[in-house]
Amino acid sequence: MDRDAAASGQAAARPGEINIDDVPVGEEWHSPLYAMACRQFARAADVLALDDEVRVRLLEPRRSLVVNFPVRMDSGDVVNYTGYRVQHTLTLGPTKGGLRFAPDLGFGECAALAMWMTWKCALVGLPYGGAKGGVRCDPYALSAGEMERITRRYATELIPMVGPDTDIPAPDMGTGEREMAWFYDTYSQSVGNSVPAVVTGKPVVLGGTVGRQSATGLGVVYTIESMFEELEWPINDRSFVVQGFGNVGAVVAQELHARGGRVIAVSDIRGAIMNRHGLDIPAVERWVAEHQFLEGFPEAEPVDGEELLELECDVLVPAARESQITEENAPRLRCRLIVEGANGPTTPAADRILAERGITVLPDILANAGGVIVSYFEWVQSHQKYSWQALEVRERLRAHMRDAFADVRSMAQQLEVENRTAALASAINHVSEAAKLRAIYP
Ligand code: GLU
Repeated sequence: MDRDAAASGQAAARPGEINIDDVPVGEEWHSPLYAMACRQFARAADVLALDDEVRVRLLEPRRSLVVNFPVRMDSGDVVNYTGYRVQHTLTLGPTKGGLRFAPDLGFGECAALAMWMTWKCALVGLPYGGAKGGVRCDPYALSAGEMERITRRYATELIPMVGPDTDIPAPDMGTGEREMAWFYDTYSQSVGNSVPAVVTGKPVVLGGTVGRQSATGLGVVYTIESMFEELEWPINDRSFVVQGFGNVGAVVAQELHARGGRVIAVSDIRGAIMNRHGLDIPAVERWVAEHQFLEGFPEAEPVDGEELLELECDVLVPAARESQITEENAPRLRCRLIVEGANGPTTPAADRILAERGITVLPDILANAGGVIVSYFEWVQSHQKYSWQALEVRERLRAHMRDAFADVRSMAQQLEVENRTAALASAINHVSEAAKLRAIYP
């Protein structure tokens, strides 16, 4: 332990330390997901031989807020909700990241997701630090009116912390355009004029950008295309399994199908469906539009949601939730490539097994960065009061994704590490350089 740290009662981070119980992070962040983010960070920081001073500064979020607020339900009862907002780094510009509405949301989870947002933005060259927040609630059990009251009250609680040049929320799990419209309106009502740049992922008619909704899924597909070019694999000759059929998974399945790829299985929260010859994705979409869930789709057989991950295929795209590929199922996976549409779907223990088994992973902070890249385009358009055409959004997204892919692959070769560590190392390098230049004040 160094002397200053000892004097302040804080332990200093030691190179090679990867156990969250031993690194000097506060109890308040403690959660499996935060431990996972710290382990990934520590591995990349070790490879970079990052100095302790910067390492300690990047391990904990800079600012955060926990709020409890009452909401009147349709029944007339009052329920108290807990909301969070965590801003991880303020070094590169305002903070950016989604709002998650989920029944098990916690502070540590938001902190992990905020840290990943920092690395994601840095990797793809956006002038942001990472943030994440949300409300612990079950959006599927709430009426539209209840969702609106929760979102607006939460937005009000966040006003001292957010703003178009301070912290810019966006959709994440359980939220979308509708919630962003309410958030934008609540903030604007409070300051007295319309401030479209306070959130991204807004409806286009309110100053959102064309192409934001499909951006994360499209970015995943651009990543697959870049990897396939390197491997000299044609898309129409390969099989794909997609976990999740929401905003990310459905777009991935659709875009792969449109390129001639054979999407053999997809899943949602109820279960999975499979057709070895390839699912007719437009027909699956029509089915979901009508029946809400994949269940019962006639031209496929039902598969257990867990079995889905273990199906034999060329590419597996986890696009649902975190911690899906673990040390328990990693030995049984039968894919050749994993492209992460979700945030944090693979645990560090699973990463080690996959590396030993020669399964290539294209990590979340690269593969799913399309969402925040187009959020950045939206923010720029909102600030400039000038809208771009769909083609411009697509082309620029593609260019950002391809550059980031090339950066990760060259870093992986240079450092002789797998892609996740390479992506993190590139991002951490960028942030630590900026942090050193801005120095310590006072
Ligand atoms: N929630 C998305 C993510 O995890 C997008 C965040 C944003 O657009 O700011 O990357």
